[in-house]
Amino acid sequence: MPTNNSNLSHVQPISISPDWKVQLSQAVTSIDQLLSCLDLTIEQLSTSQQAAAEFALKVPRPFIQRMQPGNPKDPLLLQVLPVAAEMVPSPDYNQDPLEESKHNPIAGIVHKYANRLLLVISPACAINCRYCFRRHFPYDENRQSKQQWQTALDYIRNDKSINEVIYSGGDPLAANDTFLSWLTSEIADIAHIKRLRIHTRLPVVIPARIDQGFLNWATATRLKPIVVLHINHANEIDDDVAEAIRKLTGAGMQVLNQSVLLRGINDSAVTLADLSERLFDCGVTPYYLHLCDPVAGAQHFDLDETTAKQLYGQLQTLLPGFLVPKLVREIPDRESKTLIS
Ligand SMILES: *Cc1c(COP(=O)(O)O)cnc(C)c1O
Ligand code: SF4
Repeated sequence: MPTNNSNLSHVQPISISPDWKVQLSQAVTSIDQLLSCLDLTIEQLSTSQQAAAEFALKVPRPFIQRMQPGNPKDPLLLQVLPVAAEMVPSPDYNQDPLEESKHNPIAGIVHKYANRLLLVISPACAINCRYCFRRHFPYDENRQSKQQWQTALDYIRNDKSINEVIYSGGDPLAANDTFLSWLTSEIADIAHIKRLRIHTRLPVVIPARIDQGFLNWATATRLKPIVVLHINHANEIDDDVAEAIRKLTGAGMQVLNQSVLLRGINDSAVTLADLSERLFDCGVTPYYLHLCDPVAGAQHFDLDETTAKQLYGQLQTLLPGFLVPKLVREIPDRESKTLIS
């Protein structure tokens, strides 16, 4: 064996199981473990154990493998690392920035917009993104038994204005396929539902999630499936992610992407243009670019609207119109996302 003195030699000491559930259970959950995977020391970063205690660090190994060892500013690392800036109080940022609790008519449902509603399928996520607007969502109150799902299904049955159901979370694909298959067939039995949308980051952080078990139910339904991924930086898309996306598009699903505009991660027109180009190469259409929600603990990621608009103007000069995502913000009590232009 040749001697190997590169930094990469001790990254990923354990081999990765092909089973997505095993990969999920083997996600890294401590700051020390994450930094040692990346050959970084605690002195190079202003990490915070207190921030990790409030909102746990959680990052699956396939995602860590796409981070650059030795780079404390890696754009994937900065999305998941608990840092001291999260603990700085800020009066404009709060626990429920979207006032979703007002639109949570019964457990498991967020019905805010006409014709479509969100089902909170799974409280868990495969990854914990530090900027997440759901970081304080009362998932325990939205944890459901099959019996409680019947109540949610009745709500959908009784409102004929709804034609699209959106699986959300948490991450809906953290739920098992037996449950998802059951729920989807119940929804497909409701005649006024046409489309099923799946909002998920799992195919990005654990591409093995797009396995036969998923494809079986997702392609068997009469509902038109649309998958909305969540990718913020081109480095998140490696060959395995591209392959998972190919499985989705190959099965006839429309695949879209939403990103969050994040200071220090993707706040440059060139970075965002690279992402759109990479998405297009994989058959994914850029959908939304969200301004950060004013959630407590995420203020250091936020960009002011003037800066965001300037950046967006530059982005438009770098891409054909169809690869420019819509710049939006979510404002409580509005009937749709609000376009920023
Ligand atoms: C974003 C969102 C939707 C979906 O909105 P689209 O503009 O159709 O993508 C639906 N419900 C809620 C509560 C949302 O936040
Ligand atoms: S995957 Fe989505 S819902 Fe889950 S922590 Fe990240 S941003 Fe939040």
